[in-house]
Amino acid sequence: MSAPSPSPADADTAQVAIIGAGLAGLALGIRLQAAGMDTLILEQQEDAGGCVGSLRRDSFVFELGPCTVPDLAPLEQLWRLGGAELATDCEFLPLPPLVRFDWPDGRRLDLTGDTEGDRTAVAAFAPADLPAFGAWRSGARSWQLRPAPRFRNSALRDALTSMGLLTDAAPARAQQIAALTGGWAVRGGTDRLIAALVRHYERLGGRLLLRHTVTALSRGPAGTCQIACSNGFSMKEASVASSLGADNTRALLSTPRNSRRQLAPAIFTVHFALRGSWPGIGHHGLLMCDEHHASVRAVRDKGILPARSSIVLSHPSAVDPALAPVGHAVFRASTIVPNLRQAPLDWAAVGPQLERAILAETGQRLIPDLADRLVMAFHTTPADWANRLALPGGTPFGLREPARAAARGLPDNVVLIGAQAGAGAAIPDVLAGAERAASRLLGQLRSAGKG
Ligand SMILES: Cc1cc2nc3c(=O)[nH]c(=O)nc-3n(C[C@H](O)[C@H](O)[C@H](O)COP(=O)(O)OP(=O)(O)OC[C@H]3O[C@@H](n4cnc5c(N)ncnc54)[C@H](O)[C@@H]3O)c2cc1C
Repeated sequence: MSAPSPSPADADTAQVAIIGAGLAGLALGIRLQAAGMDTLILEQQEDAGGCVGSLRRDSFVFELGPCTVPDLAPLEQLWRLGGAELATDCEFLPLPPLVRFDWPDGRRLDLTGDTEGDRTAVAAFAPADLPAFGAWRSGARSWQLRPAPRFRNSALRDALTSMGLLTDAAPARAQQIAALTGGWAVRGGTDRLIAALVRHYERLGGRLLLRHTVTALSRGPAGTCQIACSNGFSMKEASVASSLGADNTRALLSTPRNSRRQLAPAIFTVHFALRGSWPGIGHHGLLMCDEHHASVRAVRDKGILPARSSIVLSHPSAVDPALAPVGHAVFRASTIVPNLRQAPLDWAAVGPQLERAILAETGQRLIPDLADRLVMAFHTTPADWANRLALPGGTPFGLREPARAAARGLPDNVVLIGAQAGAGAAIPDVLAGAERAASRLLGQLRSAGKG
């Protein structure tokens, strides 16, 4: 997947070193290579992808990170910059624009993105909120997050603000990702998108070094940056782009960190495979809990793991049956939980309990014989994300402060990228951040006569 390790002499020629081969690092690398820059990506793991990854086990494919790409346009642009077409490297399947919300008392709301159909559904569910819904919906663009108005019906408000809770998690100004307009799944698993990004980056001359953990950054002569890795590899270059977030990057620079920096809540996910098929359960749904608002506040504001919380249920094999053997299905059920800074829970003990509770709730509400049909189940916790990717507080959803504030005080030629750079951690946010970082770095290198 990656080019062989360059010799130190090769490495010395890189103009920009990028730390982390997640979506942000790869997107930035492609942009800079396409603009004629020489870049090198250093990744601590054996594979690229970071949060994006698919686990293949016994002919099942489980999506560990995102299973929805909200918008293809930023990816298509990356390919066009390099004179290629995204479709030749990666295949996408359109997601039906249907989100189903279920409540414990049996109420159900189906939103499909069809204006008239959704108005009819809301008119039946919460008639007094129809005007507010109409105004909100008409302003929602494809993937964009948008503040939801103050609906009178609390269940409708909870439903329409639930998706953005993972990435922003402020109930009062909670936002709704407009999944109602659909989105895309990567055929065969999202790791194929990562393989395509790596291929495209390397085709443009970029170099990716896997199993290279960056352990220190220092100022070199003439304002250059020096990088040291745990395996002894070292190099110097004009600029560094880091996807490790404000504090981990400061730690590499040995500059003080802000221990009070607020992180978004984290995510707990149960992955499970079942015998049977469920055409009635769409790609994406929410099992709302009655105490939704209070449970989100408990996690976000108090760092408490609530007794009950809403569950985001994804059913990737509904759209791509090849993710499971014939006659089987893969699901994943996620809920927000406190990040490790808010509450250093013993996830080895809490994880199995929460997995049982989520499977029981999903079974009770949607698949009564779930336990009998279970082929396998496993879970991922904030501790797993912290251990595997060194995510601060084990949350993939980054900071609750703007990127500009998080970057304050860093040297000019050290740029933060990715989900950990500031508030906003959906794929389009990360890709837009890579575009901003590319223009900033290109400007710096050109004005220094190095571009
Ligand atoms: C469970 C889950 C579900 C999600 N669902 C969605 C969704 O449906 N839609 C959506 O739009 N977004 C979703 N997201 C968010 C999206 O996946 C992330 O925002 C995005 O993948 C982040 O990319 P990144 O490059 O910023 O960071 P990362 O993916 O975290 O990449 C950072 C990389 O840096 C590497 N690294 C760390 N430390 C070092 C070091 N010292 N030296 C070298 N390398 C290092 C890590 O190994 C990692 O590969 C989801 C995320 C998760 C976890």
